[in-house]
Amino acid sequence: MNLKDLWLAIIKDLSKDVQRANVITWFKNTALLSAEEGVLTIGLPLPVFLNWHAQNYAGITLKTAQKHNPDIKEIAYEVDITLSEKDPRVIDLLKYFPEKTTRKLPGKPEVKLSGGVISKMFNQRYSLDNFVIAPENRLAHAAAMTVSKYPGENYNPLIVYGGVGLGKTHLLQAIGREILRNDPSKMVVYCTTENFTNELIENIQLRNMNKFRNKYRKIDVFIIDDIQFIANKDRSQEEFFHTFNTLYESGKQVIISSDRPPHELNLMSERLVSRFESGMIVDVKMPDYESRLAILRNKCQEAQVFINEKVLEFIAFNIDTSVRALLGVLNQVIAHYELENLAPTVKSVSEIIKRSKKEVKMVGFIKDDPTPHRAVTLDQLTDYVSEYYTIPKSEVLGESRAREYLLPRQVIMYLAKTKLGFSLAKIGQALGNRNHTTVMHAIGKMQDMMRNDRQLLCNVNAIAKEAGIH
Ligand code: ADP
Ligand code: MG
Repeated sequence: MNLKDLWLAIIKDLSKDVQRANVITWFKNTALLSAEEGVLTIGLPLPVFLNWHAQNYAGITLKTAQKHNPDIKEIAYEVDITLSEKDPRVIDLLKYFPEKTTRKLPGKPEVKLSGGVISKMFNQRYSLDNFVIAPENRLAHAAAMTVSKYPGENYNPLIVYGGVGLGKTHLLQAIGREILRNDPSKMVVYCTTENFTNELIENIQLRNMNKFRNKYRKIDVFIIDDIQFIANKDRSQEEFFHTFNTLYESGKQVIISSDRPPHELNLMSERLVSRFESGMIVDVKMPDYESRLAILRNKCQEAQVFINEKVLEFIAFNIDTSVRALLGVLNQVIAHYELENLAPTVKSVSEIIKRSKKEVKMVGFIKDDPTPHRAVTLDQLTDYVSEYYTIPKSEVLGESRAREYLLPRQVIMYLAKTKLGFSLAKIGQALGNRNHTTVMHAIGKMQDMMRNDRQLLCNVNAIAKEAGIH
């Protein structure tokens, strides 16, 4: 099925759940741009469609698309304001959804845009809310908040600089999204410096420079990421300089990121540097330990996985180069967890970290003796389990039926029986002289619970692995 037919099939299906008027309004002049590697890229004719689609139709579009092609895993949007009735990729919706009554929607001001600006969909993952504020980036975050509320006013241009993986793209995209959310008729363009340069070269070759200039000069908010890549590209610098000036002089917001402060950028034009320096310049640095931990906790919550606090502390303690590296480790940990049903432990995570980093700091995380001993006695197993749940061994062996002690006790009983083959009587005896029927019930209960509680299953597997009895 070609892209156009697929798109028509999807829209027809969708229309069973979406009112005709909405289908016509929001799917008009849209097109399926590509379906590659599980990603369906949908072209939208106006920036104002972006938020609307993302919030209202992304889920149902994905679900419907999957009915036609189960390989599709994701939906991406791209604004391409050249999309119109005349475009061969666009479907004439009125032909397939003929009007039944002629009802006019209350007149809304028409949004007119110049042709040809392509703005990549803002990544839904980046928002100002999920940016963790640390002392090292507080100012950058505050400036981002202000600019997203009052674009083109006091902080113009806004320049965010700092090393790789420290949140520049996150902030830039979040500002763009927020501005669009506040006013969907604004034309917000986010582009990487690479995009800008490539597009420029293309347009020079096609002798389209007037078109190129016009479209960049008609936007309201211009966000350009990683401006350092413009060094040594004289023609790009020149073109950027003109674009920047036009926008700046007509009070349009410009937001720029860079890996270094403006005066270190080696730009040809001193005037541009001084313009940059007259704006708001903020930097982002590596967040401190507490903030790193907060970032990890947030991400776990977002991903809806529960990871032992000790393990998160261990990652935060060890990864201090960039937030990207920090999240990279967390993602690997989560992947292992999901693939193997095995809750991560400090030990297993240190193996992951070792792959990318020579030295792993263990101080304060595990006992000095790093070689795991196989737990063969009930006493050793009890040690492992109490340590895992960080509770005193005496309580595990004691009388208390509080859940925090009861559960570890049941875990020991279960592992002692299923992994080490001890008799019920022996297990009962070792665990504070309990009756063998108590042990039997506990094991049955554990089996039930593990069937329904994946978290518990993962924890029990992790303990067994640490104790060398997996
Ligand atoms: P840069 O553009 O500076 O190289 P990114 O913006 O791509 O870095 O950030 C890398 C990753 O770290 C992204 O997934 C981003 O969401 C995340 N990140 C960076 N800083 C923070 C923060 N303060 N709070 C939450 N996530 C962050
Ligand atoms: Mg970036």
